[in-house]
Amino acid sequence: MIIVLKENCTIEQQQALVSSIQSHGLSTNLSKGDQVTIIGVIGDKSVLDIDQLKADPRVDNVIPVTESYKLVNRKFHPEDTEFTVKNTVIGPNNLTIMAGPCAIESEEQLMTIARAVKASGATLLRGGAYKPRTSPYSFQGLEEEGLRYMKEAGEETGLATICEITSLKALETAVSYVDMLQVGARNMQNFELLKEVGKCGKPVMLKRGLAATIDEWLNAAEYIMANGNPNVCLCERGIRTYETATRNTLDLAAVLVLKEKTHLPVIVDPSHATGVRAFVKPLTKSAIAVGADGVMVEVHNRPECALSDGPQSLTCQQFDEMMQEIRPYADLVKRSLA
Ligand code: PEP
Ligand code: MN
Repeated sequence: MIIVLKENCTIEQQQALVSSIQSHGLSTNLSKGDQVTIIGVIGDKSVLDIDQLKADPRVDNVIPVTESYKLVNRKFHPEDTEFTVKNTVIGPNNLTIMAGPCAIESEEQLMTIARAVKASGATLLRGGAYKPRTSPYSFQGLEEEGLRYMKEAGEETGLATICEITSLKALETAVSYVDMLQVGARNMQNFELLKEVGKCGKPVMLKRGLAATIDEWLNAAEYIMANGNPNVCLCERGIRTYETATRNTLDLAAVLVLKEKTHLPVIVDPSHATGVRAFVKPLTKSAIAVGADGVMVEVHNRPECALSDGPQSLTCQQFDEMMQEIRPYADLVKRSLA
């Protein structure tokens, strides 16, 4: 349930109302926007007298929220969320470009790619140190050694860094090396991991599960927010369908649905969505057009030698060309690029 406050409701009156709701054992979330101030109420609302609340001179309206996700719900927080990662902002005014290799393979590989993507205009460096591979015999990632390279690359280039964590142990290690954490598709409903990510104090990107509905995805994001972390963005990375021509099926309509349902920023990953290098640039343009807040793309200095996801990785030069081509698209949707 949300309580929309009257425009002339003072801060003292707001606080008094919040305290009285909390005294019934309910939790509240105060959202102050340019237009309206809203109190989101979570818990068993039967303890409240709704008619009395509607008649309260401080209250403009009381609206039920039927969705099971509350904190991520746009009804609770009508304005778009934005948050800072190191020195870059993810939100409605920017187009955030996250780029880097699928996996961190060596110090030299990561530094080469980091310098290149920085020069082309990326603001976040991606790279996996813990790789969730389909086969247990495939390269599993350099783990802590890779995280050390990530930290060095971030320090040298000034790029913010993002790494996937695949377990509680990886989370514990990664928090001291990277600026932002990624929960991958395979862990989208690993609820114990989501709870701890909620408590870790780092911004997080939650990728869509392989076959997750948008509601399941938003409930997964709610786990993170309900555990204290407001700095969450979502990443559409394609879903499993009957179509096999591309690795997954990129659901660009999900960006539009999410923009209605949630205030959280939305990133699109055309690399994992298609598995095809040639499709990355056109789908990046499409993602910008439908209102994504950024993209994550895989870039490799030598894709033909990559230990994972070479076929979908852009070369550094292709990434640079893409960055130049998307500038007018960013201008059209009034978003800043670095
Ligand atoms: C990744 O981004 O490295 C990755 C493994 O992606 P996903 O979880 O979307 O498959
Ligand atoms: Mn990959």
